Amino acid sequence: MAARTLRIGLIPGDGIGKEVIPAGRRILEALPASLGLKFEFVNLSAGFETFEQTGTALPDKTVAILKLECDGALFGAVSSPTHPVKGYSSPIVALRKKLDLYANVRPVKTVLGAAKPIDMVIVRENTEDLYVKEERTYDTPEGKVAEAIKRISQRASSRIATIAGEIALRRQKIRAAGNPSIHKGPLVTITHKSNVLSQTDGLFRTTAREALADPRFSSVAVEEQIVDSMVYKLFRQPEAYDVIVAPNLYGDILSDGAAALVGSLGLVPSANVGEGLAIGEPCHGSAPDIMGQGIANPIATLRSAALMLEFLNEEEAAARIYAAVDANLSEGKLLSPDLGGTAKTEEVVADILGRL
Ligand code: ATP
Ligand code: MG
Repeated sequence: MAARTLRIGLIPGDGIGKEVIPAGRRILEALPASLGLKFEFVNLSAGFETFEQTGTALPDKTVAILKLECDGALFGAVSSPTHPVKGYSSPIVALRKKLDLYANVRPVKTVLGAAKPIDMVIVRENTEDLYVKEERTYDTPEGKVAEAIKRISQRASSRIATIAGEIALRRQKIRAAGNPSIHKGPLVTITHKSNVLSQTDGLFRTTAREALADPRFSSVAVEEQIVDSMVYKLFRQPEAYDVIVAPNLYGDILSDGAAALVGSLGLVPSANVGEGLAIGEPCHGSAPDIMGQGIANPIATLRSAALMLEFLNEEEAAARIYAAVDANLSEGKLLSPDLGGTAKTEEVVADILGRL
């Protein structure tokens, strides 16, 4: 079999991003040759340090190389300055926009054997809703009023529901291949507040329903949940969910909430997905409080590398990485300090590479 070569951009960014992204590169390089995968890496810059050095947080070159040359990428973290800095805005938000990375995918999963097992994926629409950032403030006789546009389109709602359906099918396939899971069937839960916002969330809801009615999703059960009761149930009965699809703002809130259910931020991966490009990104930030000490947990990044591979249709390679990480966690001997252990980043990476 001819080897498939994947070109992967590496964007460490700031803080512990510089410590964990090299780990992501190493796990890809350590995948067994029998998988028929080769990797070419391109180092790319973005972030606050880049801004201080060059005057821009997201150089055009980074965007162009990702767009024209890369199949995937790993993005570390960028620090947010404590005071607003003139001319600086988050490069990851800009990147999502410029590359039309329309889906933010966040799997939330407990280690095998956990007292309350959770295994779900939150699929958050990434391009519109209140994040179009069209706000205005005006004066009235009673004082100032501020308002923001919440924009929901059929196109964005349809493609986010479609990718949620595809993820549900892929998870079904992975389970059928004998991987243990707490779920029986593929299920997509559509989250909205259309009882109040009948036009915007109403459009999201009906469009998502239509997209998931496609015959290729005939094995996928579809349900709806109003976002407030979704939060309640997410905490009371997280095992009830398989794939959750939500507009941007609800998805943002739900995915941080769900991450809290499984412990450290250092464990939770994500992917930003568009046409022909998937960028893996750990959910944590630049963690200035622990940077430079060599103790950052690399697992969120290793899992983000695996998630990126899933969207490049390399499920087998992804499964290898997940299994090696799970083995490290269930044994529990080499854990980083955020998980109550004393291991350094380097020791955790070495242990997981050894298990590949
Ligand atoms: P930023 O502004 O870049 O988001 P932050 O101060 O909000 O930085 P986060 O990175 O969001 O910091 O982290 C929040 C907390 O979780 C910090 O105490 C940090 O040390 C811890 N943390 C985050 N990621 C990891 C990790 N990979 N390993 C260990 N601890 C982590
Ligand atoms: Mg943070």
